[in-house]
Amino acid sequence: MSSGKVVFPGEELCVEEEFMPGSGAYVDENGFVRAAVLGEPIYDMASRRVSVRPLTRRSLLPRQGDIVLGVVSGIKEDVAIVKVLGFDIHAPFKNPITGLLHISQISESRIESIYDAVRLGDLIKAKVLNNYIPLLLSTKEPRLGVVLAYCSKCGAVLVKESSGLRCPSCGNVEQRKTSIDYLAVVRRGSRKG
Ligand SMILES: [Zn+2]
Repeated sequence: MSSGKVVFPGEELCVEEEFMPGSGAYVDENGFVRAAVLGEPIYDMASRRVSVRPLTRRSLLPRQGDIVLGVVSGIKEDVAIVKVLGFDIHAPFKNPITGLLHISQISESRIESIYDAVRLGDLIKAKVLNNYIPLLLSTKEPRLGVVLAYCSKCGAVLVKESSGLRCPSCGNVEQRKTSIDYLAVVRRGSRKG
């Protein structure tokens, strides 16, 4: 029986007692049957097996040149690991897709430390450079980069000023490779003190 829906790799399909995993599915250590590929789950009632028919249309996955939104979920040496959430904030993917942002793809200008450009929890807008997972990302263009960042000291949303990103709560100033579309901006003349 075709369900007509699409599942992402890792998505739970059922428990092992209900259906055994067929092609494109596997059982995790807790006995949940999960999709191994992006595709359509097929539940075979006769054999009590669930398989995942791989999606051949790639339209649901970001492709080379697409602009995506993601959250920095880890930083390892010169690479930021990004949970790619969707094409925009209003159309999230069902499950986040893993993306990688290498320090050489962050900015046109040279970056000494990746922490001067992105940090954990930052919301970024990036361009996709490839057609497979993990997505390889770039934020070099002016419209790309961090669109929302949080203070490393107190967690408040950082506000963009000419000198960088300033925390309105504790006064901490941080640097990022920001997008020209950064969301929290102080309008000229409205800054206090
Ligand atoms: Zn702060």
